[in-house]
Amino acid sequence: MELIRFADIIDNYKAFFFDSYGVLKNQNGAISGVIDVINALNVKQIPYKILTNDASRNREEQGSKFRDLGYTGIRDQDIITSGMMTTIFLKEQVKSGLIAYLGTSMAADYIHQAGHESIPIHDVHDDNEKDISALVFLDDEGYNWDFAINKCINLLRHVNIPVVVANPDRIYPTKGNEVRMAIGSIAYMVEKTVGKRFIYFGKPESQMFAHAFDEMKMIGIKSKTDVLMIGDTLETDIYGANRFGLQSMLVLSGNTSKSRYENRINSTGIIPDYVCAELNWNID
Ligand SMILES: [Mg+2]
Repeated sequence: MELIRFADIIDNYKAFFFDSYGVLKNQNGAISGVIDVINALNVKQIPYKILTNDASRNREEQGSKFRDLGYTGIRDQDIITSGMMTTIFLKEQVKSGLIAYLGTSMAADYIHQAGHESIPIHDVHDDNEKDISALVFLDDEGYNWDFAINKCINLLRHVNIPVVVANPDRIYPTKGNEVRMAIGSIAYMVEKTVGKRFIYFGKPESQMFAHAFDEMKMIGIKSKTDVLMIGDTLETDIYGANRFGLQSMLVLSGNTSKSRYENRINSTGIIPDYVCAELNWNID
């Protein structure tokens, strides 16, 4: 696929959805040039939403992190996290009880926002298992994996409760060329071991796309063809957009490298509408 410039296609759309990590920022901070893109959208009053599978902290904390990085125009309400979809589910589908979770205490805010009490997986014991009404996989930090995985397996052998995975990502990039196993992989391992079906939120699932598109409809964006999803990962951002019916653009600033993108598109069969090396606002 030919590489295009963002400036070549921007006028074809009335609104944009952005992935966060690998598109707006990476381990070094804001990705160069992208702050100009977001500033320009703000000036031109072109609406956008940031769709992130990061359920490690709430939207307000993610918003202030963006502003610290220099994205001064990003408002909290422009951010939609997979954790928020989990909150909606817990609010609507789980009536009462304690919600057990894997993640840091900061991530547990998504449980509290649903009006429920949380209990870290390490504090679940034989005598309080019957009070647990759901199990949520939020983040890969904040607990001992070996202990937590085995505790989850035993809990799910003893009680029948819904299990929610707030971030389906299998890996995430760390320093240099390294990756680390993400919470989605831990959940997948437990799911396969116990043989029960879990509920996944986050891209490529449709809930976040639907939520973001509903908000766009409220400000007059009527058609899915008016919205372009921009992401760095074929399996989540691009596949999710394709399934939901949005056009998509792969950017090569994160998970998918310039040397491998054509192979990756061939081997996955996930085809973006456009590929762009890097996001910037050059319209010369
Ligand atoms: Mg990404």
